Amino acid sequence: VQRVYLDNNATTRLAPEALEAMLPFLGELFANPSSPYPGAQSIANAVRAARGEVARLVGARSAREVVFTSGGTESINAAFYAALRAQPTRPRVVVSTVEHSAARACADRVEATGREVVRVPVDAQGQLDRERLFATVDADTALVSLLWANNETGVLTDLSGIGAACRAAGAHFHLDAVQAPGKVPLDVEAVEVDLLSLSAHKFHGPKGIGALYVRSGLPFAPLVAGGPQEDERRAGTENVPGIVGMGVAARLAGAHARDVAGLARLAAQRDSLEAALVAASPGARANGAGAARVASTTNITFPGRDAQALLALLGEAGVEASAGSACNARKVAPSPVLLAMGQSPEDASAALRFSLSRNTTAAEVARAVAAVQEALALLGALG
Ligand code: PLP
Repeated sequence: VQRVYLDNNATTRLAPEALEAMLPFLGELFANPSSPYPGAQSIANAVRAARGEVARLVGARSAREVVFTSGGTESINAAFYAALRAQPTRPRVVVSTVEHSAARACADRVEATGREVVRVPVDAQGQLDRERLFATVDADTALVSLLWANNETGVLTDLSGIGAACRAAGAHFHLDAVQAPGKVPLDVEAVEVDLLSLSAHKFHGPKGIGALYVRSGLPFAPLVAGGPQEDERRAGTENVPGIVGMGVAARLAGAHARDVAGLARLAAQRDSLEAALVAASPGARANGAGAARVASTTNITFPGRDAQALLALLGEAGVEASAGSACNARKVAPSPVLLAMGQSPEDASAALRFSLSRNTTAAEVARAVAAVQEALALLGALG
């Protein structure tokens, strides 16, 4: 069977341009960028160029504000660590109820050390209760950490005024922007964020490389201690091929986020998939469809149907999608994000996520629709 890959929020295909740029750094250009000889200088220059591309992607004022890490999870952990080290006397951390498991686990850890964690709820569409959020930001708040775009539903957080409120209160503001590049323009100045996490493999870069934006002047204690790499903010010999690939992917993602026509095409494709799937089963509904969303994602509850059974049938038909977030794929638990949106455990266990990319074709969408219709018919006949 030919595969139809509709799981781009789990990971994306490496862009050919990124692969091509990486190859020399997996071959003859292997020197350590910190070494003193001329051959190493060109490696350091490639790292510098990639840092500039990532800085441009997020609208940073200076490339020095970009710290390369091993991925989104490390960036998020580093952001929490640095913010809490910088604000030792403030007792409160604020997150939402729909965070990715990385930020959720960091918040749980903070709570276990005796600080207070406020988890601000969302409405049925997955939209943050902004009034509740603003009420939590004061002189006791060390850190506010939110998603830019939700990995399960694609719902975008309305960020207006949050950065300013954090700044006024002296709280650190972190955004998990892992699902945003290439989908929305990123501007760390406009949203007044202090720390922002990225992961290259979510935007057609390689796996095992990410970045943390750290606003100039922000006190920063490194999570990973060791050598002086990354301006003493992340120790360890640089993943040069990964960094080079991430730089190219960042350049492409910046262009994609500005390509209004391309995003409109993607949204139209997502909308047609969503409409066909909602029509395929009585009571089916698209989660978060009433909110501002990225163009690539649809998350659909098929009441009375088991997401794992549907996924297994889709997998046999070559259609690759997911139930909840990929990190939870092996644990059959209802999606915490959908539970937080007020769904029953049954409905939250009956949802599938389809995430498209610019490579998705109309023919693939049609095959996915047919496969879902067949799977629903089969499960209906059985059940
Ligand atoms: N944050 C969000 C919103 C994500 O979707 C993911 C990946 O699933 C991560 C963080 C973690 O990124 P990584 O797995 O690359 O460390």
